[in-house]
Amino acid sequence: MKKVVHLRPKSAHESAQEPPAPAREAFWAPAPCAAPRSLVVLGATGSIGRSTAEVVKGASGAFTVSAVAGGRDAAALARTAVELGAAFAAVADPAAYRDLKAALAGTGVEAAAGPEAVVEAALRPADIVVGAIVGTAGVAPTFAALQAGRTVALANKECLVCAGPAFMKQAAASGTRLLPVDSEHNAVFQAMGEADLAAVEMITLTASGGPFRAWSFEAIAAATPEQALAHPNWSMGPKITVDCAGLMNKGLEVIEAHYIFGIEPERLDVLVHPQSVVHGLVAFTDGSVSAGLAAPDMKVPIAHCLAFPARLKTKARRLDLAGVGQLTFERPDFARFPALRVALDALRAGRGLPTVLNAANEIAVAAFLERRISFHEIARLVEEACDGALGDGVAREPETVAEALEIDRAVRERTSARLPQGAAAS
Ligand code: NDP
Ligand code: MG
Repeated sequence: MKKVVHLRPKSAHESAQEPPAPAREAFWAPAPCAAPRSLVVLGATGSIGRSTAEVVKGASGAFTVSAVAGGRDAAALARTAVELGAAFAAVADPAAYRDLKAALAGTGVEAAAGPEAVVEAALRPADIVVGAIVGTAGVAPTFAALQAGRTVALANKECLVCAGPAFMKQAAASGTRLLPVDSEHNAVFQAMGEADLAAVEMITLTASGGPFRAWSFEAIAAATPEQALAHPNWSMGPKITVDCAGLMNKGLEVIEAHYIFGIEPERLDVLVHPQSVVHGLVAFTDGSVSAGLAAPDMKVPIAHCLAFPARLKTKARRLDLAGVGQLTFERPDFARFPALRVALDALRAGRGLPTVLNAANEIAVAAFLERRISFHEIARLVEEACDGALGDGVAREPETVAEALEIDRAVRERTSARLPQGAAAS
């Protein structure tokens, strides 16, 4: 996200000496989006995918959609493809192909299935690829889009936690932008403005605290999936909602911020802010602080990324500060939310531990949702996986996506083997 700061207009002489740089005015002018921009939406049937569809439909002709992809919900994917006028729809699960084909019969939308079809969707012609698949499943198609030089509007934080170095290297090599859809990172991106990273003292990501913010350790340990899925402020897919309940999501987001902003862990902080109004803060070396505020509605950061650097008019929720009344902030409690500590430790340890953390967490969250483990066992299993990887020398910084996915596979196997055997508890 390196940007150019112009403190004064350049003379014609200076301009002739230097390579052309995008003018600040060109970046931020509230001009309508150069229409229409073409999009691919990966994870089109999910929470982010549906919000993206709402932004697209509300933007009256500003966007076209060339392809959509999903996991296994053929009916929902077919509906989305038709609704958005996509030419190509890919479902990852080969078993869903017949249903997708049947649902798209007579629509003119081409149907395909399998992980390679999802990659094909990612490579369909587009100005922007929205990366909104959940989990490591998003790594290969999102990376393919980067390799092809597409601008990626990234919601899928697991891509960066699993394979951050490879993603950032590829983005630089392709001269491609990774635009942060995640609300905290999007707020920071906007609050950062034209500032150089050297002028940034601290980046703070806020967390709502989730449904267990005021719960005791014992109560959290005994929490059910239904309780973990009852997020007070945001409506999201099940994996990220469980991540939020234990503050693992904030840990994943600190790792995401480390890669996407190229900033070291010591300049990244977390505050609990139950109102979810201030999403991210940037403190500068002169004592100034800029904050990114918005109502908790993912259509806001999605619209920002899709139109960047212009601004769309949207029907996203508006922020009513007087209605909110008070904005409060508190330090996270690492004793009641050990997952955040485990994630921050993994980031500081480096050596591939973010990759290990991400893989173990996906297995543990799925097991919790299947009622095979208790809530606090998520953090325990993830910490065990990190300790194990350090102990047996598996831990190494993955340079490539292939290396990251190999670590991911090995850790998934090991973590699965540590799960209690037998039927899920009721
Ligand atoms: P959802 O569970 O609602 O949606 C996940 C999407 O991924 C669905 O479209 C699903 O398809 C698809 N999918 C699953 N597996 C595959 C696969 N193997 N190949 C292709 N597609 C697949 O998740 P969210 O929308 O909530 O989250 C998506 C990502 O965005 C996550 O990484 C999350 O952390 C991040 N994010 C989400 C936010 C939110 O507000 N929801 C906020 C910030 C970040 P199907 O429906 O067929 O299963
Ligand atoms: Mg977030």
